[in-house]
Amino acid sequence: MLFNPEQLISKKILLWDLDGTAFSAANKLHDAVTEIGFREIYGVEARKNDVVTDGMTDKQLIIEVLKLHGLTKEQVEARFIEMINVMNENFLRQIKPGDYIPLPGVKELATAIRAQGTPNGILTGNPEIIAWEKLRVAGIKDLFDFGAFGDSTDKRVELVTEAKRKIDTKFGINYPMTNFVILGDTPKDIACARDAGIPVVAVSSGRYTFEQLKQEKPDLLVPSLTETAKILKFIS
Ligand SMILES: [Mg+2]
Repeated sequence: MLFNPEQLISKKILLWDLDGTAFSAANKLHDAVTEIGFREIYGVEARKNDVVTDGMTDKQLIIEVLKLHGLTKEQVEARFIEMINVMNENFLRQIKPGDYIPLPGVKELATAIRAQGTPNGILTGNPEIIAWEKLRVAGIKDLFDFGAFGDSTDKRVELVTEAKRKIDTKFGINYPMTNFVILGDTPKDIACARDAGIPVVAVSSGRYTFEQLKQEKPDLLVPSLTETAKILKFIS
């Protein structure tokens, strides 16, 4: 076995955000399939960027966008499984090689973490099937071990509890949630870590600049994940 469950309990485990942190997108396929779902399932011509979606879980943004079009949260939730199914089907059908590109330093950092006997976790607003498919196309799927995904909740902070459930089940342990460290590229990732009472590493490889993220006071801030030694030191 790659990991020793007894030792995992005392290790800090990184929970990676995906978009803007692990990879960048070459197109707006994820937005497009969300909008297909709005139309096919809810009969609404809505744009995903009707709201600021950065750092929202997909469940949250789907509810928020559809509220703008007069639907209640209960109405959205009543057909939410169908919504995710339509998104997944269209995403899997349309995705092409090169659609998701790993950001600099990602493979090296994820590999170095694994080499220390620590798994890499995912904490993303993406639905689970779409998240793993993006990672596959980016060529980095095999470097990730478990995850918490944005089709399970409309509150990002609850994904930390979900990550604990996943790791506990996978390795048969009772992992202390405060040993998780969030890694992300937006102020919402930082807020999520604060809400959960855990540290956060911010990387300015996404839509926010180094200066913008600095104002949010992350525990560690790096311009890119090529700062392998700094990040490893922070989580050691
Ligand atoms: Mg992100």
